[in-house]
Amino acid sequence: MNTGKAQNAKEVILLDSKAQQTELEWISSPPGGWEEISGLDENYTPIRTYQVCQVMEPNQNNWLRTSWIEKGDAQRIFVELKFTLRDCNSLPGVVGTCKETFNLYYQETDSEVGRNIRENQYVKIDTIAADESFTQGDLGERKMKLNTEVRIIGPLSRRGFYLAFQDVGACIALVSVKVYYKKCWSIIENLATFPDTVTGSEFSSLVEVEGMCVSDAEEEADNAPKMHCSAEGEWLVPIGKCICKAGFHQKACGRGFYKSSSQDLQCSRCPAHSYNDREGLWRCDCEDGYYRAHSDPPSVACTRPPSAPQNLVYNINQTTVSLEWSPPADMGGRNDVTYRIMCRRCSWEPEECVPCGGNVGYSPQQAELVDTYVNVVDLLAHANYTFEVEAVNGVSDLSRTQRLFAAVSVATSQAAPSQVSEVIRERVQQRSVQLSWQEPEQPNGVITEYEIKYYEKVNQQQKTQYTQSSRSTSATVNNLKPSTAYVFQIRAFTTAGYGTYGPRLEITTKEEASGTSRTHAQAEMISVLLPRPDQLIVCSSASLPVRHCGYSKADQEGDEELYFQFKFPGTKTYIDPETYEDPNRAVHQFAKELDASCIKIERVIGAGEFGEVCSGRMKLPGKRDTSVAIKTLKVGYSEKQRRDFLCEASIMGQFDHPNVVHLEGVVTRGKPVMIVIEYMENGSLDAFLRKHDGQFTVIQLVGMLRGIAAGMRYLSDMGYVHRDLAARNILVNSNLVCKVSDFGLSRVIDDDPEAVYTTTGGKIPVRWTAMEAIQYRKFTSASDVWSYGIVMWEVMSYGERPYWDMSNQDVIKAIEEGYRLPAPMDCPPGLHQLMLDCWQKDRADRPKFDQIVGILDKMIRNPNTLKTPLGTCTRPISPLLDQSTPDFTTFRSVGEWLEAIKMERYQDNFTAEGYSSLESVARMSIEDVMSLGITLVGHQKKIMSNIQTMRAQMLNLHGTGIQV
Ligand code: AMP
Repeated sequence: MNTGKAQNAKEVILLDSKAQQTELEWISSPPGGWEEISGLDENYTPIRTYQVCQVMEPNQNNWLRTSWIEKGDAQRIFVELKFTLRDCNSLPGVVGTCKETFNLYYQETDSEVGRNIRENQYVKIDTIAADESFTQGDLGERKMKLNTEVRIIGPLSRRGFYLAFQDVGACIALVSVKVYYKKCWSIIENLATFPDTVTGSEFSSLVEVEGMCVSDAEEEADNAPKMHCSAEGEWLVPIGKCICKAGFHQKACGRGFYKSSSQDLQCSRCPAHSYNDREGLWRCDCEDGYYRAHSDPPSVACTRPPSAPQNLVYNINQTTVSLEWSPPADMGGRNDVTYRIMCRRCSWEPEECVPCGGNVGYSPQQAELVDTYVNVVDLLAHANYTFEVEAVNGVSDLSRTQRLFAAVSVATSQAAPSQVSEVIRERVQQRSVQLSWQEPEQPNGVITEYEIKYYEKVNQQQKTQYTQSSRSTSATVNNLKPSTAYVFQIRAFTTAGYGTYGPRLEITTKEEASGTSRTHAQAEMISVLLPRPDQLIVCSSASLPVRHCGYSKADQEGDEELYFQFKFPGTKTYIDPETYEDPNRAVHQFAKELDASCIKIERVIGAGEFGEVCSGRMKLPGKRDTSVAIKTLKVGYSEKQRRDFLCEASIMGQFDHPNVVHLEGVVTRGKPVMIVIEYMENGSLDAFLRKHDGQFTVIQLVGMLRGIAAGMRYLSDMGYVHRDLAARNILVNSNLVCKVSDFGLSRVIDDDPEAVYTTTGGKIPVRWTAMEAIQYRKFTSASDVWSYGIVMWEVMSYGERPYWDMSNQDVIKAIEEGYRLPAPMDCPPGLHQLMLDCWQKDRADRPKFDQIVGILDKMIRNPNTLKTPLGTCTRPISPLLDQSTPDFTTFRSVGEWLEAIKMERYQDNFTAEGYSSLESVARMSIEDVMSLGITLVGHQKKIMSNIQTMRAQMLNLHGTGIQV
C-alpha cells in the first residue's frame, strides 16, 4: 500500500510574482526595454507584469532580472513562466526585426549583488517560445493566448540566485513568474514514519530515507524500513518494514468495524451513514444517497450533496450583477461547501438561453466560492440573464441526483464600454508615440471616440495630464519630449459615457540625436518663428500669436502637425478662412473636392439660407456607399453668396471630432455647388427632443450633453468661438450622438431666425447669449459656455423654449437683475447647478468646457448623483439664484449643509480632507477651502461666505469662540 503518490508532492514557493501586490521593481536594462505594468488576472485580481515590445528596431538586447531568490534547502528548482507573445505576422511593417522567442538565464550568488546586469555571468537555461501566439475566439476574433512553460534548474551550490529574461525584439507580456521546489510529504508506511524530504538535485536521482518505527513496533531484523523520494516529490520503492512488538498484533476486524491501516492498532466502528457486513474490511461502504469523497479517509462519516442555497438576492449596476445568498439548510454533513454560478444569456422573446461564455467575469470567481456572494461583471448592456447558484461539496460530483440550485432572472441596463485592455506601441520616436489598440471586448454601444490620457512619469505627482481623442483604434501622440518616460491610458466613449481606463502603458521616447536637443517650450517657439518660406501666407486671426504667422497645409503629410500641435497638445489651431485672400484656396485647403458623379441626391430634408438641404448617398471609389446630407447652393447665386456658402465648409473641414459634424467634402467644380456632410438621421436636437418628450432616461440626456460639451471643448481648444450654440444647431444621429453644427462667420448668425438686432449692431440670438456678448459683442469661449448652459436647459426640458414667451427685452432685463432659468421638471439639482455656473455674470467665474465634460463624466459614472429630482416649477416667478443663507442648526451633516448651499458636488472633496463635522468646517480658512481642489473662484467665495455665516451663528448659539 503506497500512500505517497504524486498528489502528496509538496511545492515550496520561493517567488511568485502574482502574489505580490506592490511593485516588483526588478532590474530592467536598457531603459525603454522591459517595463513593469499593472494588470488584472482572470479573477480581476491586480497583478504586476513586465512587458516589452521593441519590434520595430533591429538588434534589441533587453534584459530583465528578478530580485534575489534565496534557495533554502532546495537543490532542484522549478521555474514556471506564464506569458503572452505577439505573433509577428499580426504586426505590420516589422519583417526582419520582430522575434517570437526570448531567453531565460540564471546567475548563482551567495548574496545580493549590484544593480548592473553582467551578461557573461549568466547561465542560459533555455530559449522560450510560445506554444501558440493566438487562439481563435468564439466570434472568430484572434485572442492573445496565455502560454505556460516550466523549466528546471539545478543542482545549485550557492545560497541563492537571480533569474534573467533576455528579449531580442519580441512583443512579450510576462504575466507571472513562479519559482518553487518540491518535497515529498511525511507519511507512515509499513509501521514506519518518513519525514518531509526535499527532492534530489537531478531528475533521475532518488533520495533514500530511513523510516522510524511507530510506537509498539520495531524494525524487522536486517530489514530496516526505507523509502525513496523522487524528483517529482513522490515516495517510491518501499523496502523493509517494522513489525509489531511482542504482545501486539494486527488482527482482523469484525462486522460493523474496520481498520484502515496497518498502523491502526485497533478496529474502529463504521462511521455515520456507512456499514459493512463482512469481517476483516479496511473500510465501510456508504449507505444509499451518501458518498465518500476521494480524499475522505475511511474514518469519516459518509456524506451527501448540500441542498440549494437560500434567499438569493441580486443588485444590478449597469452591466455588473451582484448576487448574494444564504447557505443551504442542509450542508450534507460536510464543512467543505462552496458555491458555483451558472450564467445564461436569454433572448427577450421567445425566451431561449445560452451559456454566457468566457467573456463574462466573476469576482472573486465563478466556482469554489467560499463566501456567499459574487459579482458578475462585463455582461452585455440591455440584456436578459438568468443566474443559478448551486451549493456543492466534496461529494456533489459523485451524486447522480438532480442538481439543486437557486435561480434569478435579471436584465442589465445601459452601460459604458469595457476597458481597452490591449494597447500596442506601434512606433516610438523622439517626440511622438504611435499607439494602436483593440476595441473593448464589450463596447455596450457604438464607440464614437477613444480618449488617450498621457503624462510624464516623473510628473505623476503633479498630475500634468494631457488628453487626446481619436475616432479610430490608433493614434499618434505628438509633442513629447525625447528620452522621457510617459504613461499612456486609453478609454472608449459611447452615448452611455466613458469606460474605465485600461492598464497603464509606459513608454520612453527615443533619445534625441546630439546637437538638436531643445526643450518643449523652445520647440513651441520654433514652430511659430520658423515656418518654411513656402508655407507663409498672410493672416490676421486673433487666435494666432503673430500677425504674419502663416500656415498652409504642408506638402508632406505630418508637417502640419509638426507646426501646430506644439501649442495645444493633440489639437490644431482654427484658422479663420476670412484671412485667405483667395477664398477658393481656403476651401481646398481644408475640404476635399468630390466628383459630382459620386453624389446621389435623394430627397429634400430642409431649407438653408443658400439653398436646399438634401439627403443622399455618396460612393467614393474603393469605399463603401454612405448616407450623406448635401447642402446645395441655389442657382443664380452671386460670387459673394458662393464664397459665404463655401465658408462653412472651410471652417467645418478643419475639425475632426466625434461630436462635431464631419465634412465629407465639397463639389465646387460642377453645378449645383454642394457641401457634403455626414448624415445625421435624427436631424436637429430641439425638434428631436420635442418629438420624444419624456422618453429618455436622465443618463441618456446627460450623455447627449456630454457629447455636446466634448465637441465644444474641442472647438474651444482650437480657438474657435461658435457664437450660436443652441439645440437647433446640434444634430443627432441614429445612435443619439449629438454633434455641434452650423459653422460660419459672425454674419452667418444673421441667418438664425432667433437672432435679433441689438443696440450694439448685428443680430444676436438673445436667449442663448451671454450679457457681455449682447452688450459689447464680447464673444469668447466663455460666452459659448453661457449658451451651453441654455442648451443644457433645453435638453433637460425636452426642447422647451428658453424663457418661454417672455420678450427679448424682458429676458435681457431679468438677466441683468440676476434672474436665472429654474431647473426644468425632474432635472437633478447637480445639473441645474451646472447651468447656474454657466450663467455666472462674470465670465471668468464660468466653468471651462473641459471642466464641464469632467463634471458630466463624473455624473455618468455615479448615476446616484442624478437620482433626486428637484420637481420644480415651470415658470420663472421668483429670483432663481437662491442667495439666502441657510441656518446651520438645521443641518446634521456636512453633506446636508453642502446640499443646502448647492455645493453638494464637493462632498467628496470635504470628506477626503477629513472635514466630517460642521464644527471642523466652521474652522476652515479660505486657504483650506482652496486646498480642497475647488477651482472655481465663485464657488470658493460662496463656500467661504457660508462658512463665515456658520461661524457667526455658532458663536451666537454657544457664546464661545471657535479658534480659527
Ligand atoms: P442648416 O442650414 O445647417 O441649418 O440646415 C437646415 C436643416 O437641414 C437642419 O435644421 C436639419 O434639419 C437639416 N440638416 C442639416 N444638416 C444635416 C445633416 N448633416 N444631417 C441631417 N440633417 C441635416
